[in-house]
Amino acid sequence: MTRTLVLGAIVIAGALTIGVAASQAPAAPRVIDMVKLRDNLYVLTSSTPGDNATFSGGNVSVFITNSGVTVVDTKLAGWGQAMLDKIKTVTTKPVTTIINTHTHGDHTGNNNLFGTSVTVVAQDNTKANMEKMPAFKDDNAKFLPSKTFTDRMTLGSGNDRIELYYFGAGHTNGDAWIYFPGLRVLQTGDMFAWRDAPLCDRANGGSCVAFPQTLAKGIAAIKNVDAVIPGHSPIMALKDLQEYQRYNADLVAEARDAINAGKSVDEATAAIHLETKYPGYQAARVKAAVQAIYDELKK
Ligand SMILES: [Zn+2]
Repeated sequence: MTRTLVLGAIVIAGALTIGVAASQAPAAPRVIDMVKLRDNLYVLTSSTPGDNATFSGGNVSVFITNSGVTVVDTKLAGWGQAMLDKIKTVTTKPVTTIINTHTHGDHTGNNNLFGTSVTVVAQDNTKANMEKMPAFKDDNAKFLPSKTFTDRMTLGSGNDRIELYYFGAGHTNGDAWIYFPGLRVLQTGDMFAWRDAPLCDRANGGSCVAFPQTLAKGIAAIKNVDAVIPGHSPIMALKDLQEYQRYNADLVAEARDAINAGKSVDEATAAIHLETKYPGYQAARVKAAVQAIYDELKK
């Protein structure tokens, strides 16, 4: 009887071990898709966050210049080798510069993979936010940004020029907009992640209330945009970014009205139906955004 119990316990422990091992192993090989946007600009694409088996992190641009490769964002930890493998299929040049659009782990997760000879660039507040992350503590602090900017910075020259801008709070308080003027391409990071309400990370200084104004400032300042690389969606056009600005302005206006009408967050969310005015938009993230707007305005 005792022996049976012990054996039974061993069998169960063994099954648990196998179960843990199976759940840790990736269900499929980690392969990242790549889109050629220009002769010297590729995008390592992103799926929508949610499915952990396939979600590799945000869109990453790979800009091949005369002096080396600039990578904008570095996806989620664990996907770095898949990133490098893909980059090697289009260039033999080394990665010399990393730009992090903002602090989140799905955009900064593989900074460490590129070594310490790479220049890491980010907005001032993003560097400060990254310093709070366990991934950049202690010895890993050497993978933090070594070059920062407040409002604007230019890297490179001629057709290799990259312009970096900060227009104010939104997704966080340090979202860099990356513009490739020679290619007429704009990369927004998560200031335009998807066709749904934005994620406003208030712990990192994000603001859903400021979001539409920040978008408007960026759209007004950056001219000559033929393609937009969003945070987590396929390549879009400038008109899609402009539409996203209007969507966010409407979202804030409707949430404000709901507060003034004394509605709860749930009642406000149930009454807001922007997806009917904006075809193709989801409403999965509206409640969280409405909550953020309420928290910001009712403090
Ligand atoms: Zn993010």
